[in-house]
Amino acid sequence: MSAMALASARDTAFATIDGLTGLGLAPTPTNYSVWHSHISGENPGLSRSIQELVARAIPITDEMLSDFWRRFCAPAIDPAGVTDAGERLGRVMASIAESMSGAGAAASGFTDALARFGDEIVAAVRMPDMAGVMREATRRMLVETKRMVENTRGLDGHLRGASSEVQALRNDLEEARRQAMSDPLTSVANRKAFDDRLAREMAAASESGEDLALLMLDIDHFKRFNDSFGHVIGDEALKLVAHTLVSGVKGRDMVARYGGEEFAVILPSTSLAHALGLANGLGAAVKGRRMLLKSTGRDLGRITVSLGVARYRPGESATDLVRRADAALYAAKNRGRDMACDEGAIEED
Ligand code: GH3
Ligand code: MG
Ligand code: MG
Repeated sequence: MSAMALASARDTAFATIDGLTGLGLAPTPTNYSVWHSHISGENPGLSRSIQELVARAIPITDEMLSDFWRRFCAPAIDPAGVTDAGERLGRVMASIAESMSGAGAAASGFTDALARFGDEIVAAVRMPDMAGVMREATRRMLVETKRMVENTRGLDGHLRGASSEVQALRNDLEEARRQAMSDPLTSVANRKAFDDRLAREMAAASESGEDLALLMLDIDHFKRFNDSFGHVIGDEALKLVAHTLVSGVKGRDMVARYGGEEFAVILPSTSLAHALGLANGLGAAVKGRRMLLKSTGRDLGRITVSLGVARYRPGESATDLVRRADAALYAAKNRGRDMACDEGAIEED
């Protein structure tokens, strides 16, 4: 870490503790991690929620910070399947190792028996009852050989079983990996998958010099929607938005749920102008979907969204890029919602 980075990390750490002290809150690991994330500006959604509380002069409590931690800071949960699969893999490996060492002992016993057989044959040549000694040695050799064949057959069956268990484990791990990377409600990529992919696309764009755009989207007045129809129907609306976005993009584009009611779309090889065009199209597509309550046929009206797009500037951090797309999105909110803005709108506002 450079001296400058060290000084800045230390400043953020002190500011975090000062901030918490000012609120009358202890710098517990959860409080510290949330406030640090807010102060460093790496989590615009979190900062907005905090600023909203501050603006409304609502006192911030430990419970609120715990809730923010769950919503904005908690790492993607490792599904139990991964641990379980790991344990199963360990057991399979141990049992293979056991049969291999058993087979190894049997094989070395067989080698010893072969050596003894050879010695006995050499010795028998000089004995008066050569035929009798040879017969006895051959009989014992046959017993040893049979035992060895049985052993090998057992090992073969064991290895076959182990190999199908390893195949089943591979499938389970693949499924667990898929679950760890996707949002359970909407099935689109989750925040972790988004972060990983954005880092890779940024590196690829820096190397190739190709365009890379980022689109951020937030549902308009979603709190009101939830208040009117309830969270369960709110969840259905989130799914509808996610499906509309997935249907509206193609190729290497990636739709992700960024947090609560915010989505992000990574757009490789896409200019800012094209990204803005796509944002307008996606906004219109969401608005075009009518929401009817299945049970009663009640019309729930239309959902609108605000969108912001930014173009990746080689060398900048993912935080900077996300922050700019998010600022463009908030420019769209400020201009009346139900529209898309590009990063050019930030300076104009
Ligand atoms: P704005 O147009 O400014 O974005 O207004 P808004 O009401 O959408 O914004 P605000 O941030 O005040 O509220 C976001 C709401 O989104 C609050 C919360 O209840 C809702 N929300 C976030 N995540 C979920 C979720 O997983 N399910 C449901 N049903 N609602 C959610
Ligand atoms: Mg929001
Ligand atoms: Mg909203």
